[in-house]
Amino acid sequence: MNSNTITKTKIWLSSPHMGGAEQSYINSAFDTNWIAPLGPNVDGFENDIESYLLRSSHVAALSSGTAAIHLGLKLLGVGEGDEVLCQSFTFSASANPISYLGAIPIFVDSEQDTWNLSPELLEEAIKDRIRLGKKPKAIIAVHLYGMPYKVDEIQRISEEYGIPVLEDSAEALGSMYKNIKCGTFGDIGILSFNGNKIITTSGGGALVTKNKLIKQKAVFLATQARDDAPHYQHSVIGYNYRMSNILAGIGRGQMEVLDNRVASRRLNYEYYRENLNDKPGLKFLEESEENYSNRWLTCVLTDSFEMREEIRHCLLEENIESRPLWKPMHMQPVFEQFPNYTNGISENLFDTGLCLPSGSNLTTEELDRTIHCINKVI
Ligand SMILES: *Cc1c(COP(=O)(O)O)cnc(C)c1O
Repeated sequence: MNSNTITKTKIWLSSPHMGGAEQSYINSAFDTNWIAPLGPNVDGFENDIESYLLRSSHVAALSSGTAAIHLGLKLLGVGEGDEVLCQSFTFSASANPISYLGAIPIFVDSEQDTWNLSPELLEEAIKDRIRLGKKPKAIIAVHLYGMPYKVDEIQRISEEYGIPVLEDSAEALGSMYKNIKCGTFGDIGILSFNGNKIITTSGGGALVTKNKLIKQKAVFLATQARDDAPHYQHSVIGYNYRMSNILAGIGRGQMEVLDNRVASRRLNYEYYRENLNDKPGLKFLEESEENYSNRWLTCVLTDSFEMREEIRHCLLEENIESRPLWKPMHMQPVFEQFPNYTNGISENLFDTGLCLPSGSNLTTEELDRTIHCINKVI
């Protein structure tokens, strides 16, 4: 670190951005003493998300996106020894719950158009697992960085083989595929409201389903699985996964500004692309006609690992946070012993890609500082 690093204000990759109304929802929780993992803000937040997503969604607000994946897989019937197909190019939270359940992750690589689950490889993997004697119990598909995966293709495979989809929409609230909101495509969908996501409750998540009964089951499991009795009685193992009424208050305020947040992040992407797209060796992830990305993070692909690292270090010197794209799960020490079906695409993305500062609260000056730094390297 040199003295420069200290004097220049930090630019974050993706920082929380409050809308203004959050505090008043929190105050109402205090005023009414609903300081608990239930209450009017929890119901209100769920309603807000349901009316945003449409398609008669039922939403269960939970303590994290990871908890939602855990309960989602459980409700899809995943248990000890079952195999679960999972997009390899993702954050570890997509895959960790497979292990919580004692199930076996089978990692499948991405395709180039969206960087998400490759339909061809997925089908190949399913055929191979069946040939080896076991049909996988679920498919985890991810809209990474907010870019929708190939929904129709994945859906067709899911239906043809009778394997349900858990749709990891943690990074894609506000994204759409064929004008329909992400989070509503899978047999079960999940959202995250972690501090770095497009909207945040500081920490939180949600499970999305079209089946009211599934929502009831999720809430039941998330609140310690209490049987209907005056005393505490339990017939199955429960979890403490419900969202707090305080945090749901933050969520209600954030839902009021969600569309603004999506618009700002999309503008970030446009600004980077306009100012950097003609540079040799830099490429951006474009939307197809079906896809509308919330552009949670703007990512660039460079020509080589060396060029990516040079840009990353230069940004670091300027006190600007950036990050390599997700390291694929099949390359992670904790997961590398599990079966995988790969094509080299996610490994290449990991080697050459970089996430740029993408918060909805970035100023033009901050974007310019980042662009200036990249220009210097190229
Ligand atoms: C953030 C994230 C999760 C987990 O959400 P948490 O709320 O942090 O538990 C899962 N999957 C993906 C792709 C994510 O980015």
